Amino acid sequence: MLSQYADLCAAHEDALVLFQVGDFYEAFCEAAETVARVCEVTLTERTDSTGEYPMAGIPIDNAAPYLDALLDAGYRVALGDQVEDAEQASGLVDRAVTEVITPGTVVEDDLLESGTTNYVAALASGSAEGTTSHDEPDPTLGLAAVDVSTGECLVTAGDPDTVIGELDRVAPAELIVGPDAAAFAPSDAAGNWERHEYDPEAFDRRAARDRLEPYVPAPERRFEHDAELRAAGAVLAYAEYTQGDDGPLEYVSRVRRYDPRDGLRLDAAAQRSLELFENRGLGASDTLLDVLDETNCALGRRRLERWLRRPLVDADAIRSRHDAVGELADRTLAREGIADALSTAYDLERLIGRVSRGRADARDLRSLHATLDVVPELKATLSKAATDAMDTAGESGNSLPRTDHLTNLRDRLDELAEIRELIDDAIAADPPQEITEGGVIRDGFDRDLDELRATEREGREWVAELEASERERTGIDSLSVGHTQVHGYYIEVTDANLDRVPDDYHRRQTLKNSERYYTPELKEREEEILGAAERADALEYELFVEVRDRVAEETERIQALADALADLDVLSSLAAVAVANDYVRPEVTEDPDAGIRIEGGRHPVVERTEDAFVPNDADLPRGSVAVITGPNMSGKSTYMRQVALAVVLAQTGSFVPAQAARLPVLSRLFTRVGASDDIAGGQSTFMREMSELTEILHDAGPDSLVLLDEVGRGTATTDGRAIARAAAEFVHDELGATTLFATHYHELTDLAAERERAFNLHFSATREDGDVTFLHRVVRGASSSSYGVEVAELAGVPAPVVDRSRELVAVDEGESDSAAGGSAVDGDDADSTDADSHDDDAPGDVDDALGVDDAPDVDDASLREFLTEETEGDERADPSLTDASGGGSSAGDSPESTADIPPDIATILRDLDLARTTPMEALNTLSDLQDRLAHDD
Ligand code: ADP
Ligand code: MG
Repeated sequence: MLSQYADLCAAHEDALVLFQVGDFYEAFCEAAETVARVCEVTLTERTDSTGEYPMAGIPIDNAAPYLDALLDAGYRVALGDQVEDAEQASGLVDRAVTEVITPGTVVEDDLLESGTTNYVAALASGSAEGTTSHDEPDPTLGLAAVDVSTGECLVTAGDPDTVIGELDRVAPAELIVGPDAAAFAPSDAAGNWERHEYDPEAFDRRAARDRLEPYVPAPERRFEHDAELRAAGAVLAYAEYTQGDDGPLEYVSRVRRYDPRDGLRLDAAAQRSLELFENRGLGASDTLLDVLDETNCALGRRRLERWLRRPLVDADAIRSRHDAVGELADRTLAREGIADALSTAYDLERLIGRVSRGRADARDLRSLHATLDVVPELKATLSKAATDAMDTAGESGNSLPRTDHLTNLRDRLDELAEIRELIDDAIAADPPQEITEGGVIRDGFDRDLDELRATEREGREWVAELEASERERTGIDSLSVGHTQVHGYYIEVTDANLDRVPDDYHRRQTLKNSERYYTPELKEREEEILGAAERADALEYELFVEVRDRVAEETERIQALADALADLDVLSSLAAVAVANDYVRPEVTEDPDAGIRIEGGRHPVVERTEDAFVPNDADLPRGSVAVITGPNMSGKSTYMRQVALAVVLAQTGSFVPAQAARLPVLSRLFTRVGASDDIAGGQSTFMREMSELTEILHDAGPDSLVLLDEVGRGTATTDGRAIARAAAEFVHDELGATTLFATHYHELTDLAAERERAFNLHFSATREDGDVTFLHRVVRGASSSSYGVEVAELAGVPAPVVDRSRELVAVDEGESDSAAGGSAVDGDDADSTDADSHDDDAPGDVDDALGVDDAPDVDDASLREFLTEETEGDERADPSLTDASGGGSSAGDSPESTADIPPDIATILRDLDLARTTPMEALNTLSDLQDRLAHDD
């Protein structure tokens, strides 16, 4: 047995082999230790002729939790099942791996989350090693993904950036990489997938082509690029391997090629920061998917997620979905009828997957039947909705039928009447789980089966009457007839009556106070009953498999039906959400110059937890840059996200949380959240922040929406501010992307004055009942540069401190005023461009702060930098600010600016112990120094 085990292990090197021994899956030796540890089961010893070795097992009929644990721990598990009847085997029972369970290829319902898609993906490069004629390696990557439980298969190709972005979006559970694609595949950047290299031969172009042939006729013509061909071939090779290597998976019948540009592109960072599918916060707030999910079956839940991961970019297709949602939103009764019907639907995609893999049991067929059963009702409901709509349209003089989408959907609802009837006629209403032990096929379905059952029944009836007739014949009143598993039927007579036992009784068994007998006739009947029962079970199994195969022949039709049901579920879910949350249909425009206009917009997730969510407008001309300022917690991030979410929702086909909205069709959405706002951040968050910023600066364009939230925060103020400023300018000047830029660098508000399409927005705060209150209302114009002080005052910081802070800010601004000709004011309702317009020819604050100005300004610059650093509480490592003893070491900090300072002044500055200087003293000292400098001049 151990050598058989070793053979299976050798053939499945990358997996942990579990070996069926009776009712258990056992692992031996090293694998046993793993199983014992991960599954927390006992490690035992087994002894045989070859010696002693460790062994650990899990029960087969309750394997799911253990398999789950192994998958979670990163193992792939090969199930070595007994493939021969143990009773009939001579010697060792034959075993074979029937399935390899991996995170991306599980098909067991127990191990899969319902309502989610579980993909395994493959990544391949275009060029076969050494076959390219170019010096440059072919930069095209191919990506293919299969959901083995449903048979869905997606294939795409493109440049590495695009394809890696797609990978984020597909979010597979498992990724296999080809030999020369490994360099491109992030080991686990954003995704949670398990990544490993797979047999390079599977990625070979020829092998991939041959593998694909049964799925896609003439694959080399269907796939434009070798990379696609290789990825698709490899992922199917892997899927087949995990399903026991029985050849092509028939139910993978829809291999779909797509172009990533056919959808609104949301990279992993955007998906994450918009909290579409996962929330980043520590508090368990909902995701957008949670808010939208009013679906009624697993098909719909999976489809909703798919739609949300790939919003549309075709205006007509978007409007068509809006039509359907609007229609269903208006027709409450129809919508509720649809919801009721769908809530009894089972997961048709997975059911048909099991049917076609030959793994479905009788209960699965019954579930399939129950699902088919709702179709006629749905069709009727939809037809009615359509006619009603036509009538209304007629009355209102609106000749446009609004229901194209739903009519089309209705036509896609295939009733599959013959399959439904077949299952209903053939399969028992409440069948057992086992399909080999009878009770599966209905009476009346098959004449032979009915006859066998009749024989069995008559035999049993004869036995049931035997007791009475034998009592009468023998006169033994205590005589009884019974049955045991081992001995079969018997007639039992107590010892007291043994003398009255007739001659035709044959002794079968002796008990303590009685004897058991059989008669030749009883024996004959018994054999008849057993034979009939056994043959009936076998026949039932045969009939069942016939029915299942017949159903499997309709795999494609059933998949198409599943598709339609999924769409219908999502559309009615979106309608229900729109009605419940008061969403509005957005007007979608193809005008390439149209910007984003939202009236009374809300954040779909935040509004659910915030009692009094304050709606806000957004008017963002195409290519404009809105610089958003305001205190912490005032609502900047929420506002930006709600604008982005409106775009995502609209292009998904949903209505949007607003009073009115007019939206362009955008092709890409980027978000970048500054490091310290990124709760999930690790050590090199600033590095990540910058590399994600790089992506935006490379790829964003006029059809993009860009959200920059506190960019530059992850580093020292001067650097951060400079980067933020430069990025904003670049986005405005070079990319033309519509941009929302929330920043705590107040200096950025100058951008409005300097750039045509830049403008300021801000949030402010007030005091109410002694508490600081944020109004959460966005207003045009820049916020006051000292909003921090205002908030401090609102929060109750003592008046002297507040006043003193004001003075310090005034000094700061005085400096900027003299240098820059005035700074932004709190511009409630003021036209920001006007307010800021006199800044035009002045050197920017950023320049000042960086100390790159000419000599006369140097002191102002370093002074202001000092003040700025202090007021903003930046923890820049300046020892003189923190170390009471050490002025000395900081002298060399800014060599360029101190170079021109007279030595005596430098000495005073160096010796100034900041830790013991009050702001007032410091200011006096500085004022003295300034005087001295003036004299020196
Ligand atoms: P900021 O980015 O300015 O620091 P956030 O956008 O993170 O602020 O908002 C802080 C909190 O304020 C949110 O968590 C939310 O609870 C609340 N909030 C934000 N916008 C609104 C709004 N429009 N109406 C009501 N509450 C809001
Ligand atoms: Mg924020």
